[in-house]
Amino acid sequence: MASAAPHALLLPYPAQGHVIPFMELAHRLLDSGFAVTFVNTEFNHRRVVDVAAAGASPSGIGSRLRLVGVADGMEEGEDRDNLVRLNAAMQEALPPQLEVLLEGSGSSSGDGLGKVTCVVVDVGMSWALDGAKRRSLPAAALWAASAAVLAVITGAKKLIRDGVIDDDGAPIKLENNSFQLAESMTPMDATFLAWNWMGNRDAERLVFHYLTNTASTAVAKSDVLLCNTFADLEPDIFAQHSPARILPIGPLRTWKRSTAEAPVGHFWHAEDHASLSFLDAHPHGSVVYVAFGSLTVMSSEQLEQLALGLEVSGRPFLWVVRPGLAGKLPTSFVATNGRGKIVRWAPQDQVLAHPAVGCFLTHCGWNSTLESICNGVPMLCWPYFTDQFTNQTYICDIWRVGLRVTPTGSKEMVNVKRITEMFDSLLGNSGIKERLKSLKAMAEKSMSVEGQSFKNLDTLIKVLRK
Ligand code: UDP
Repeated sequence: MASAAPHALLLPYPAQGHVIPFMELAHRLLDSGFAVTFVNTEFNHRRVVDVAAAGASPSGIGSRLRLVGVADGMEEGEDRDNLVRLNAAMQEALPPQLEVLLEGSGSSSGDGLGKVTCVVVDVGMSWALDGAKRRSLPAAALWAASAAVLAVITGAKKLIRDGVIDDDGAPIKLENNSFQLAESMTPMDATFLAWNWMGNRDAERLVFHYLTNTASTAVAKSDVLLCNTFADLEPDIFAQHSPARILPIGPLRTWKRSTAEAPVGHFWHAEDHASLSFLDAHPHGSVVYVAFGSLTVMSSEQLEQLALGLEVSGRPFLWVVRPGLAGKLPTSFVATNGRGKIVRWAPQDQVLAHPAVGCFLTHCGWNSTLESICNGVPMLCWPYFTDQFTNQTYICDIWRVGLRVTPTGSKEMVNVKRITEMFDSLLGNSGIKERLKSLKAMAEKSMSVEGQSFKNLDTLIKVLRK
């Protein structure tokens, strides 16, 4: 039997930092009476379902939330972290499968949710908007990183005209390597643009064209362009940079949601009990939380320096050593780390909300940055690639709520001494804590009933119901 409820198809980019905020948006839509078809690549779908199945079955939600997997066009066993290959394969493989879902035919017509009536796609998947446009369905595009990075990507043509980058996104040697997209915006380092840190120039060129093409398609073809941020966090963008076009609807956070109630979208089982009971046993503000997100890879040598740094610091620590982060930890370390706890994956937003956490050693992924701000936790910044360097600039120079962990010596390594010095500097810095208090309050306000992000979510819901 067809349902009269609006039915949204959500399509995140296949990366952890995109699936989590999209799942949170799915729950917001479910709360507003929508049915949701949540489309992951099969590879991620299996992981999300596996983790979600470990929790109790979500009563009520389960019947209106349909998790679907589609083939990404890659072979079994291929490296899904090779984003260049993944981007190309998906653009071939996904559109026909999305047609079937939009048509509501074949096996996708079941579940009693009725036909899809609207879509929300990732800006990085905006080529998928065509099917919705052909059917005149309301369509939104969500950017899962900062508005500053989106402004730089949509402003790439200006950067080319101004001689900051060449036609393929490579930085042109400038004085100080610094540029400003608009007078109101913070100066940025052209070396660290989101596409310029992929390891080789060919990949950087392809990623540059993928990002700029998908962003301009999203601007042209979506009815509303969303961003997981809040206006008070990035006033330089929202005050000047076509604020009417970008609707901030963040921070989209999972901290009150656990997989026991509903899927959060995690790819790995979070060690909730081990992480939270470790924190419960420690005094307020004492624990260093260390996590590098879902994609970062660290050399074994660097991992060893970090392990030693944590040991020598004398501070309690909770460290996420995700499968694939690095090789093996030194055996001596594993044997002597009674002061610390190592987990494969943590319920990060809940961890950062725990009063025992005193600081966050982070790779500066956008979600991690938002979660740290929302929980008032000072950051030690250790970026690796993509937008992480821009986020670091905002954290350290604009909001001034964190410090850089700069590499030392010829091998660009962060050594033990630097790590321990940085913990001391950060934890003794009262200015950072004060500034965090005010950012945290702004984040809470933006998601309160009177807040701008909350109102923008309402606007989105109205657009999607049309
Ligand atoms: N995360 C988590 N547990 C962990 C590590 C990370 O739940 O042990 C979550 C984190 O809360 C964030 C996401 O994974 O929501 C990572 O996104 P981010 O943008 O910070 O980094 P990325 O993985 O995209 O590099």
